[in-house]
Amino acid sequence: MNRATPRYSDTLVIGSGLAGLWCALEASRHGTVTVITKKERAESNTNYAQGGIAAVLAPDDDPELHLEDTLKAGAGLCHPDVVSMVVTEGPALVERLLDLGVTFSRAAGGGLDLGREGGHSRRRIVHVQDRTGAAVEAGLLDAVARNPAITVLDHYYAIDLILASRMSRAESPDGEACWGAYVLTPDHTTVIPFEAKATVLATGGAGKVYLYTSNPDIACGDGLAMAYRAGARLSNLEFVQFHPTCLYHPAARRFLITEALRGEGAVLRTLDGEAFMKGHHPQGDLAPRDIVARAIDTEMKNRGHDHVWLDATALGASFLAERFPQITEGCRKLGIDPATQPIPVVPATHYFCGGVRTTMDGASEIPRLYAVGETAHTGLHGANRLASNSLLEALVFAHRAGAHLARWADGPPPPPADEWVPPTSGLPREDVIINHNWEAVRRLMWDYVGVLRSDHRLRAAAPRLSLIREEVDRFYRRFAVDPDLLELRNIALVADVILRLATARKESRGLHANRDHERTDDLHYRRDSVLGRVGDVSWGDTIPDPRATEPLS
Ligand SMILES: Cc1cc2nc3c(=O)[nH]c(=O)nc-3n(C[C@H](O)[C@H](O)[C@H](O)COP(=O)(O)OP(=O)(O)OC[C@H]3O[C@@H](n4cnc5c(N)ncnc54)[C@H](O)[C@@H]3O)c2cc1C
Repeated sequence: MNRATPRYSDTLVIGSGLAGLWCALEASRHGTVTVITKKERAESNTNYAQGGIAAVLAPDDDPELHLEDTLKAGAGLCHPDVVSMVVTEGPALVERLLDLGVTFSRAAGGGLDLGREGGHSRRRIVHVQDRTGAAVEAGLLDAVARNPAITVLDHYYAIDLILASRMSRAESPDGEACWGAYVLTPDHTTVIPFEAKATVLATGGAGKVYLYTSNPDIACGDGLAMAYRAGARLSNLEFVQFHPTCLYHPAARRFLITEALRGEGAVLRTLDGEAFMKGHHPQGDLAPRDIVARAIDTEMKNRGHDHVWLDATALGASFLAERFPQITEGCRKLGIDPATQPIPVVPATHYFCGGVRTTMDGASEIPRLYAVGETAHTGLHGANRLASNSLLEALVFAHRAGAHLARWADGPPPPPADEWVPPTSGLPREDVIINHNWEAVRRLMWDYVGVLRSDHRLRAAAPRLSLIREEVDRFYRRFAVDPDLLELRNIALVADVILRLATARKESRGLHANRDHERTDDLHYRRDSVLGRVGDVSWGDTIPDPRATEPLS
């Protein structure tokens, strides 16, 4: 590795999705901002969001109704004060996206075309056709490009945080604090300390921890792992949302088959052709998303099948081409004609409700470190995310964190960071170990800590994962780093946290279903699970019953 020259800014933002970019724009009001991002700047979960952003904008809607819908979905684990804040502050921020030039779809009369999604009692989803995320991402990147206080650097990979407690040369002016991050350069030859008065983790989710995911390749839980290694605690990562139907095909990555197809009459079948959903829920193929994901997983695991079929042949070629052009075309490109053949599908990880524990201002438990967007656990989603609430959460918390960052602007500059110490071994690296363990972690999580869990499988996963982690950590300490190795180290860590939290929660609630503990146990588990680097899983305070909360003013 080459010697590195530190780079300095007032705020370092890691991640260029909605949360990172919005936070950068706010933070630029009181200082310089560097945004680093590990691939091209638009590559993020945000860029692939289809549905839209939930916000109370219709005359017949009310924040109180959005609050109720969110609490209902969250199955007792939403923090009512956080939900109340988000649904109240969100709409004004959505309007600011309009001011930035994001052209949300309009209805015939000229007003915003508000969509309705499962779990919402009113039409409140602002969207740009079915490519909302890409439009929002493009709008924000434009605004950032026009802002002279913000620098965006593509292909810079954050490895770990710079911590006062680990500095050898300098005293931090205010005790433990995060003063930036160690970052791998695009050519992978140098690790640079990016020094900053405050650092924001906006690294998105962790879909790649599982074998099948709707997330792009960036979603490796890097921010979760960095925060955990630095000593911040994580919460509620056992609540993993699965999209029920992702195309199962070796050449297809992240191809979601919309649930609207089942809405129009498509039927899920086992590989033997048996329509199985009626046996799992009275609504059959129209059961709620989590039930459908669980039913598919159960059928696959019980029968040892790799996927199930989604049979849309009864819908007819012309209807399919007209109503679902993207799916029809996409499948045909892969040699599947949905008008005459069933589509092979599997559930896929979609969203993580848990994350780095933060305050209402996005501050983590480590001074000068923030977490926003999918990386954070704010208390909004509880045990299950209401559709289109995640972009809203990213917006509201990025905004608040951006304002909160002002407090560091006039303070002292960061103390000089130690140089990165490169690994010592000069041995040639055997990449097969990386490839093998990538597959091993993701397959283990899929098979043992997946949609429907059991005590037996959770217990069996623990020693296997521990062996993999030991091997990966040994490898990390000996060989030169590159993104593949760094991501593997992070997915293995996040997998371990998910496993430990899922094992500790001996109940079924929201997205966490354990066949050995089918009941919801409010007495013991109406609490956030909490895990830090030191100690075992612990539990937050009992979450107040939303029925006892004050109505919104
Ligand atoms: C297919 C799909 C559809 C969705 N549809 C919707 C929807 O309709 N409505 C909704 O509300 N939500 C939706 N979601 C969820 C939503 O898109 C995400 O929760 C949200 O975009 C997260 O935003 P974010 O800014 O936190 O993270 P992201 O948008 O994922 O951005 C993370 C950024 O961090 C960078 N990064 C990660 N690790 C590092 C590192 N080590 N170093 C440097 N940079 C790093 C990445 O490159 C990326 O730029 C959808 C998700 C998917 C996958």
